[in-house]
Amino acid sequence: MSIFSTATIYAEIILPLAIPNTYTYAVPEQLVTQIAVGVRVEVNFGKNKIYSGIVAQLHKEVPTQQTAKPILAVLDEQPIVTEQQLNLWKWISQYYCCTIGEVMGAALPANLKLASETKVILSPLYDPNIKGLSDKEFMVLEALQNRGELSITEIRDIIEQKTVYTLLKKLLEKKLVYLKEDLQAKYKPKKIACVRLREPYLSEPELLQDAFNLTKRSEKQTNVLMAFIQMNRQREHIRKTDIYKAVEKADSNTLKAMEKKGVFELYDLEISRVKSYDEELSLQQILSEQQTRAIEQLNEVFKEKNVALLHGVTGSGKTRVYTEFIQQYIKEGKQVLYLLPEIALTTQVIERLQQIFGDDILVYHSRLSNNERVDIWKAVIAGKPIVLGARSSVFLPFNDLGLIIVDEEHDPSFKQNDPNPRYQGRDTAIYLAQQLGAKVILGTATPSIESYQNTIKQKYGLVEMKKRFGGIALPEIVIADMQEATKKKTMQSIFTPLLMDELKATIERKEQAILFQNRRGYAPMLHCDTCGWHQQCLNCDVSLTYHKYFDQLKCHYCGHSMSIPEACPACGVVGISMKGFGTEKIEDDIKIFLPEAKVARMDLDTARSKTGLLQILQDFEENRIDILVGTQMVTKGLDFENVGLVGILNADQLLHYPDFRASERGFQLMTQVSGRAGRKKKQGKVIIQTFNPAHAVIKQVIDNDFDGFFDQEITERKQFAYPPYIRLIRITLKHKRTDTLNLASKIFAQQLKSKLGNWVIGPAIPHIGRIRSFYLVDYWVKIELNPKKIRFAKSSIMQAGEALRNHKGCSNVRVSVDVDPG
Ligand code: ADP
Ligand code: ZN
Ligand code: ZN
Repeated sequence: MSIFSTATIYAEIILPLAIPNTYTYAVPEQLVTQIAVGVRVEVNFGKNKIYSGIVAQLHKEVPTQQTAKPILAVLDEQPIVTEQQLNLWKWISQYYCCTIGEVMGAALPANLKLASETKVILSPLYDPNIKGLSDKEFMVLEALQNRGELSITEIRDIIEQKTVYTLLKKLLEKKLVYLKEDLQAKYKPKKIACVRLREPYLSEPELLQDAFNLTKRSEKQTNVLMAFIQMNRQREHIRKTDIYKAVEKADSNTLKAMEKKGVFELYDLEISRVKSYDEELSLQQILSEQQTRAIEQLNEVFKEKNVALLHGVTGSGKTRVYTEFIQQYIKEGKQVLYLLPEIALTTQVIERLQQIFGDDILVYHSRLSNNERVDIWKAVIAGKPIVLGARSSVFLPFNDLGLIIVDEEHDPSFKQNDPNPRYQGRDTAIYLAQQLGAKVILGTATPSIESYQNTIKQKYGLVEMKKRFGGIALPEIVIADMQEATKKKTMQSIFTPLLMDELKATIERKEQAILFQNRRGYAPMLHCDTCGWHQQCLNCDVSLTYHKYFDQLKCHYCGHSMSIPEACPACGVVGISMKGFGTEKIEDDIKIFLPEAKVARMDLDTARSKTGLLQILQDFEENRIDILVGTQMVTKGLDFENVGLVGILNADQLLHYPDFRASERGFQLMTQVSGRAGRKKKQGKVIIQTFNPAHAVIKQVIDNDFDGFFDQEITERKQFAYPPYIRLIRITLKHKRTDTLNLASKIFAQQLKSKLGNWVIGPAIPHIGRIRSFYLVDYWVKIELNPKKIRFAKSSIMQAGEALRNHKGCSNVRVSVDVDPG
């Protein structure tokens, strides 16, 4: 035996902590055969803390800094993380200036990363008579029965041994225990409204003639019954909407009348059973000419390039193009990742894909329990063909990824703003694809400035779909001038006469309307007309929003709430007034002005409520709602065929806020929400209310002039040195005391400017200077697009942060670094 082989092996371990590097541990001899890159190990860190970490590297270099502690246990027989994933983590930590431990925190499902503080609870299905438990397993389960929950440290004390994770892992896998956080993630099944025959017709079809006799005086009802019978031959569950689609003018009143006559029974079908319903429906739609051409062009692009931007107007049928590609790739045995901005808002797309791909598809979303996440993680390793998910699905362990689709690539929610890693899901996906030799389709009706610029620079290919599917014209967009209406005193609350008249007409035509206002609550400001006082949050530099439903003032940044003061706290005058409009007030106003209309609201408040988002969408789809009022949630991807009108209540608010992306976001939001109108049957209408009808961006939205918008925007970005012409990094310093923050800010500025000089802008107090009682200061660093300079800037920023942490009195000033802020 050579001396070399007996030398100690060391492992670099990634710990779930914000420490800058991996940590070196010694591999005890008895673990040498079990250890491998990508497995989890149990280690001590600091005083008496234990963690599960991941082996990033094995080597024989003796650490010089300190003596390496031994690894306590190896938890996995097979690596749970591939080397490619470790490379991705490293890239993210370097590109986005954070620690690899923070990346691991975002990447691994909770069940795969346990820490001393993790709490464990007993499974409700636990049966104390279960056989085959070890003594120690039994001790833990018994203690859980008595105490309800245990932390991992407590478990370690109970079983009186140093390592606990191996035991815990077994209990988790046997589903005898759960992590406590799983309790919070409850999943509500979704319901779909269906219709079936009443008895006796259900079991005795020969009696159907009697049913026809009951409906014979109504032609519509007769047609409904015939359509139902036809559909019922092919499948068991018939949706109400299937009937509405099949029979002209049939609606919920028709079905209710037939229910009264005893012909039909209306019932709700739960989503878990919908799968079998949908499988029967798995018809593929025939490609339109435009879709066929787009597919050819995309294939052409992929011969030379890895990324293609699919720029297709709203309703052009991009989803069908994606499904064609998904099929193409899974036929070749490749995996496909389909990224969506916010899963909760995109149930329609998910359903459509599930109809086609059934069990081949996995959905990775935030409402999954930790166990389900681990199941998905394992299924992806095992080669499950299709994963649909939000940005964090880029972290899944793909083994043969061929294609990534980024749907709505412009959407800001692909960027994680807080906490670290502050990564851009779309950009990370492009890096991931490059790593694995996969292709990327970026799809959108409103490309991000960055992506479009990349097509101009020939980095990405460009494929366009300029027409809507079915040849329906894009909606007609008209302006309602609020300045003029205010002058003439014809405004009704926040509604111009034009919008109000169109709303009435839409409802009379039995069509639906969407009203968009990007503010929730009732009134965003409480204001004293006498002295100008307005109610601010105690903890943040923002005014409190009045929520009528709760009869409370609430802060949208920290959640602080209070009741309305009866008199002005500053001058004592009674009669404080409300300023501005939120979605809640719009809903209220509609109830006053259009009492016959059924109105509902879709925003963060109703999404969190009992009804929930899915129910609202379902009600809208099934025509139980005439007018849907909402925040940016209503702009995203909704595909309802009966929407005749879209109203944008205050365009100016969308365009005037201090951010270099304000115009881009405004253009995207207005174009996207307009795209919800008139998607299938006939051309829809959009009304944009504004005080500033001449605004260039509003004109470009009206003319559907993306090119004009892009040219203007890119010129400004160049002129004022903003992305994509430079790399932008924002650094925020936070502290509860202004004096500490001022001191820190001075030191940080000196440090940073000594290295980066006039690349640094700031310190500047941000738009909202205080959040959750923390005062904030921003620095902006603008760097030429030169890899060497960017690297230099990033390391200088990290050093300045480190210097600040080591400075007396500043060690607890928080420094956050945001690369490519969204
Ligand atoms: P986009 O994502 O481009 O806005 P969608 O993919 O939602 O557009 O398609 C718009 C509508 O057209 C959808 O209701 C969809 O079902 C329908 N559609 C698209 N392609 C086809 C096709 N080939 N056959 C039938 N219907 C289609
Ligand atoms: Zn006052
Ligand atoms: Zn607040």
